[in-house]
Amino acid sequence: MGKVIAVSTNKGGVLKTSITTNLAGVYALQGKKVLIIDTDNQGNAALSFGKNPDNFNTTIYDVLVDGIPPEYSIQNVYENIDILPANDDMAFFEFDVLTKVEQYPQPFMLMTKRLDKIVSDYDVILIDTPPNLGLTQGNVLCFADEVLIPFQPENYSMRSLVKILNAIDEFRERYNPSLSVLGIVATLVDKRTHLHSQVLQECRAYCMNNQITMFDTIIPRTVRFAASVAYEGLPATLTDKNNPLVTSYFELVKEMDGDGS
Ligand code: ADP
Ligand code: MG
Repeated sequence: MGKVIAVSTNKGGVLKTSITTNLAGVYALQGKKVLIIDTDNQGNAALSFGKNPDNFNTTIYDVLVDGIPPEYSIQNVYENIDILPANDDMAFFEFDVLTKVEQYPQPFMLMTKRLDKIVSDYDVILIDTPPNLGLTQGNVLCFADEVLIPFQPENYSMRSLVKILNAIDEFRERYNPSLSVLGIVATLVDKRTHLHSQVLQECRAYCMNNQITMFDTIIPRTVRFAASVAYEGLPATLTDKNNPLVTSYFELVKEMDGDGS
């Protein structure tokens, strides 16, 4: 039975897409059948596999709004990795749904309604999300089983972490009783930066007090990584590079799966 993991937070540039695609790489190498669902209009998940999001005839938008079968839009992008892509069309999702309430009486349940039947076709489903808490993120929180929250340690990071955690609580209460926080993973960390260690310490204390998992594994900031996507059209975990960044994604999956690290 597929496990649905959303990579969510209300911030951009904190590695949501990188985590989604690199974890897909790790799981695929383990022989698991993976589906990436992109829900962000930037379409970066497909781009990470070298596919131009503008070239798709149908996307997640058509599945959610027009009810086309998801199979029509799902593409295979690598051995064991399928993607249900997004592109610019998703920028209109909220407007198109909320202006037709009679047609979409349960606007937050569209994703669950349209995608529930494909969950059992995969071992793991990873959802890449937009950098805000709108209708799209709401649909994701109704559909997902678990949320992985990237946390970039900066001055106001704790504030936005609390916001996404509150949103998850609210969605669990109202719509999705089985929704849980898988954990928080620190991203773009430079261990030499005093602010980073300070904010991470604050975050660990907060998580401890609130019974939330904060993974020991951190995703380091590196300059080399951006190049690997640009040149090879693949997430770093599939480019067979033996660098600390790739190792950290493998360690993260071990921790997520409860195998220790
Ligand atoms: P989000 O999806 O949250 O907006 P991305 O995954 O797109 O964030 O990452 C933001 C930027 O950081 C991208 O340009 C990406 O190439 C770059 N990046 C990814 N991993 C790293 C890393 N470990 N160190 C530095 N930059 C990174
Ligand atoms: Mg992204």
